Order: sequence, then C-alpha cells, then structure tokens
Amino acid sequence: MDNNQNPGGLNVAANSNPQQNTNNIQRSSSASPREGYAPRQRRVYSSPSNQNAGQGNPNQGPNRPSRGGYQSRNTSQGPRTGGQGNRNYRGGQGGQNRRFSPNRGNTGGQIIRKRRFPDEMIQTSSAKGWNDSKNYQFKDNYEGTKLRLIPISGLEMIGTNCTVLEYENDIMIIDAGLGFPDIDQVGIDSLVPNLSYVYDKIANIRGLVITHGHTDHIGGLSQIYDKIGFPTIYAPRLAAEMIREKFKETGFADRAKIVEIDGDSSYYLGKFHLSHFRMNHTIMDNYGIVIDTPVGRIMTPSDYKFDLTPYKESPSDYSKLAKLGDEGVLLLMDESTNVKIKGWAPSESAIAHDLEDTIRDSHGRLIIGMFSTMISRIRQIMEISARYNKKVAVLGRSLETNAKISHRLGYIDVTTSTFIPLEEIRNYPDDQIVILTTGSQGEPNAALMRMAYDEHRRIQLKQSDTVVFSSSRIPGNEGRIDKLINKIAEKGVRILTNDHLTLHASGHGCKEDHKLMLQLTKPKFLLPIHGEASMLAANKELAMGLGMKEENVIIGHDGAVIELWPDGWKIVDTIESSPLWVEGNRVGDFDLKITEERKLLSDEGVIVVTLKNFASEQITLQDIEITHKGFFVQNKDNYMRTEFPNKIVEVVNRMNPDRDKENVRVNLHRQVEREIEMKYEKKPLIIVSLV
Ligand SMILES: [Zn+2]
Ligand SMILES: [Zn+2]
Repeated sequence: MDNNQNPGGLNVAANSNPQQNTNNIQRSSSASPREGYAPRQRRVYSSPSNQNAGQGNPNQGPNRPSRGGYQSRNTSQGPRTGGQGNRNYRGGQGGQNRRFSPNRGNTGGQIIRKRRFPDEMIQTSSAKGWNDSKNYQFKDNYEGTKLRLIPISGLEMIGTNCTVLEYENDIMIIDAGLGFPDIDQVGIDSLVPNLSYVYDKIANIRGLVITHGHTDHIGGLSQIYDKIGFPTIYAPRLAAEMIREKFKETGFADRAKIVEIDGDSSYYLGKFHLSHFRMNHTIMDNYGIVIDTPVGRIMTPSDYKFDLTPYKESPSDYSKLAKLGDEGVLLLMDESTNVKIKGWAPSESAIAHDLEDTIRDSHGRLIIGMFSTMISRIRQIMEISARYNKKVAVLGRSLETNAKISHRLGYIDVTTSTFIPLEEIRNYPDDQIVILTTGSQGEPNAALMRMAYDEHRRIQLKQSDTVVFSSSRIPGNEGRIDKLINKIAEKGVRILTNDHLTLHASGHGCKEDHKLMLQLTKPKFLLPIHGEASMLAANKELAMGLGMKEENVIIGHDGAVIELWPDGWKIVDTIESSPLWVEGNRVGDFDLKITEERKLLSDEGVIVVTLKNFASEQITLQDIEITHKGFFVQNKDNYMRTEFPNKIVEVVNRMNPDRDKENVRVNLHRQVEREIEMKYEKKPLIIVSLV
C-alpha cells in the first residue's frame, strides 16, 4: 500500500551537504564552452538578454510554424528545421532499422546512491526566487557549458509529453507519451514522440525517466523504445508494471530494463543527479523529478494537484518542495493543463462522498463510464462497491488490465470475488451490479457507445439502469459526448454527470495549486509545459502575477532547443520533432501528402480518367474510361457522360503527335482539373492513368 510510504523520507544525495550547493562553487574545467554547440545556433530567437533590441515579445521567434509542424513541410514556410543540411530528422527514418546494444552508457539498471563526480559539478541557483528577482540581473556572458533542454513534444498539444536534457555527452529523457491527432490528420490513430534528435546519439542516453503511468506519459514507449536503443527506464512501481504489460505485446519485454523508483530514490544519470518526490494526481505512484545539473537545479512536479485529503494516499511531499525552494531552484517545468481554471482542484475525497451515495443507493445496474488510467477512481469505485456487497464487471481491455495490475500490486483493497466476468452479471440482482466501462468521451467503438446504439453483444440498456459519467469532457469531444448522452436518454435511462453530483475531479491543479507550487519552490526560471499555447500563456501570466519577471518565463515550443545557464536562457534552435504517426501497426515515416490526400478525398472525392492507346494518332471515345467516387454528379447531368469524354478526346488528339507518356499525363491532368473546376466549382483528386 502506498500510504505506508514515508513522505518525509528524503534521500537527496546532492543536497546532503548544503554548503556545497551554493553558487560560490568554482566551475570545474570540464565546464568550458564546447565549440560543437556553436554551429547549431542557426535560428536565434531573441532571448531576454537581447530584448533591448526592441524586438517585442522575447519568446516569439521568427517564422514560427503553427502547431503540429507536419503542415509546415509542404508549405511556403518551409521546414522548421530551417536548413538542417542533409541531416534527416524526419519521422522514424534512419533510425528504424538500427539495432543498438542495450545498456550502453547506462548505469546498469541500479539505483546508485553515491556520488560519482565531484561536488563542484552540481550547483543550485543562488537566487531564492522571483521575490528577489527585482534585483536579479539576466546575464548572457556565461562561459561554461550550457545545458540544452528540448521539449520534444507536449507544448503545442495535450499528450505526447517528452523532454530531452543534454549536457555534454549525457542525455536523459523524461516521459514518452501518446497523443491523438487533430481533425485534419485523417486516418491517423495516434501520435508518439519523435526522438530523431537522439537517434545518432544513442550511446549518450543515460536513461528515460517516467513520472507516472498515464497514457500521455508512457503511451508512446511501445512505439519508440527500440528506436532509442532500449535505454534503462526509471519508473514508479505502478507505471513500471503498466509498461511491462505493454512491452509483452511489442516483444520488448526481454530487452527492457526497468528500475522502480519512489520518493526516496536518488541516482545519477551521467552528470545529472536525480531524486524524486511524491505528488498527488489521479493515479497512484506519481513522482516529481529533481535534476541537479552542472548549471543548477531543474525540477518538474509531474502532473499534480495539491490534494489535502487524498483518497487513501499520502499527500504531496510539501516539506520536500519547501526544502527545494529554500535551497534554490533554477528552473521549474510546470504542467499547464488546468492553469486557466480559477480556484483549487477538487479533492479526490470530495468525489468519494458522492460516489458512495450513488453506488449505495442505486436500485438498478450502475454503469460507470471513465478513463482507463484514472486508477485512483477505479480504486474508489471498486472499494466502495465491495463495501456495499456489490459485484464489479470491468469492460474494455485497457481498463481491465489496469484494474488487474492495481489489484495485484495491492492498490485496490478488495477481495478477488468482487471482480466478476461480464457473463456472470445475470447471476446477481441488478442492484448488486456495477459495470466499469470506457467510452465516456463518445469514442465510436467503445462499449458505452455500442450500448447506446443497441449494438453491444452482451449488455442491453434497461430503464432501471443508471449511467454515470465519471470523467471530464476533453475539449473537442463535446459533440460526440452530447450525442452519446442523448442516445442513452432516449432509452429512458437515468444519467448522472458532474452537473448533478461531484463524480469527477481533474487530477490537474488549477490556478491556486500552481501559485502554491511557485511559492514553495521559488524558481528563478519557469518553463510552462504540457498544454496548448493559451495554457502556457496562462501559466506565464499567473507567475507574473506573483511577481516573476517576464524575462524569467520561458515560453517554449515543440522542438525548441533551450540553452540554460545559471543566469539566463536562450532558445537557440528548433529541431524537427513533429510527432510520429501511428497507424495500424506502422509508425512514423508517413508523408504529409497522405493525410492531405485523405482530406481531399473526404471533402471533394476523386475522378479517375483512364486513357488507352494514348500513343495512337487518333484516339476515340472508346479509349476513354471515367470513374468517380465521392464526387457528386446529379442524375440529369449529361456533362460527365458525354461532353467531358469528348473534350478529353479533343485535348489528347490536339497534342504533339509523337506523344511522350509523361507529357500526355501531366498535360491531361492539368486540363481535366481546370475543366472540372470550371464546370462544378470543385477540386476533386484527379488521377490520370495511361495504359
Ligand atoms: Zn497525468
Ligand atoms: Zn499528463
């Protein structure tokens, strides 16, 4: 049980001698500038230090492409790599077939609790936070090696969280999540981090650190773990177990090295010293990361909320946070998901109360729709159900797997007999049945949707049922969710949502949670992470509201190469890190053209013109075949049947008698396109084929 853990049990080796963690430390000789960095500074964003040039917002670089850089490749903006030369950063290419020996450069999968390099290598920030920042001078004249921090993805969308830290020959990676495509990316199943930046630096990767087991933090591992050479994964227990389960399917299980960490762990990854601290979220085993680096201390609290009454869990490690703040934090990487929402995030215990009433008082079957990774919620529902002698059937593969893992690890405190297979629900009276299911976002093939449309093989909704939505509405899903709710309501089934009771609380802190984080940790610099542009901006505004100087907030973007030193930062480059596409069993390597074509097909349809005997002197109507799909032609429309083929005959016969195949094709394509657009005011996909 995780509530046995000692939240105060600190073991931060780097802090064991506070006197050594001051800025008075002489920089070691290894911190001399490396010329290898200089040539990379192609696109220099104006950083706070050269704001004087009056370039406006210090964080906005020139030619910044919009979200999801895939678009940028085929647009006039050009690739955002901005002249990478012949280096190919594109999705998956070059790295996919490589095989690297595992464990190279790793710490051997063991938590190391001893120092391996001189104390001088580690320093914490001298500034005590933005409360002192009025007197604080941003300096650009740092001579030592700067730390490179690259948010690979997760700064322009929700999901695919992944960050790379690089100092000299040491690289560490934080999280590797999965995200979902936006509406233009037709046919793409999901998105995973594009770590092509490290593909030719595999030997430098010292480890991959996982904060917690949510999909947006571990969901990409199955697709990218081999591409980055199977580095050691440092993950909290529950996340570790979830990753092992995933790796069984991908065949990585044998090669994976997973080290379990907790709030007491401290270890080195090359020159990075890591330690962890507990934070509350909606999943057990959620740990923030403290990274002591040669330029100063960097920390990220993972996804979090400050829950003063967590459900059967220890609270966040306030004392450790305060201690970190006292010692000095150079950079806080703070998640931004709910930073636009005022107040505090509700406690998990607030939900327990209403959930308990709902479960206890239900007179028919209770069907609860939720996210499969909200393990804290699964735990609450299972335990409350058991208390009232109800049986729980779990629907949906991921939900079932996660429930079983959590039960096996002892996080869900119920007897095995509380779980029943779906087939057995008919052996119990309806008021003893609780069904947990996915699909609360209106996902087309999820069980809840199938129930709503009477398409589920084993569960038919009845009037006596109650359907509970124990989840938030993810932006973009509102339409589908409303449709789902209406469909269920048509059956006379009772529906409970957060509008009625407190049945869901987000695991992400709101404004006040973030203020507390800043007040406790007092970072010199803030890098808002995890969120869309407006969320990052809200996080910046919040920090400035507490007195932080604008120049101390780094608004980054996916692929931004942020150089960091004790008195400053600068975005010096942008690497190609557009997320890799996952479709079926294929990853990466997709051409932007594919989704453009799909979009075109769905919007405009396709017309295929097949031309036989193109080389003969005179072609006739018999040589032409025209088919169209998804292109609307009215019944009385004779144009497509007669006029159009005649025009093609005319056009081809007018062409140069010694007909070059490619010439004919290109020419005909252009003319057909023009003709169709003039006639129908549409631009379908045109395919001209010569046989
Ligand atoms: Zn999370
Ligand atoms: Zn997250």
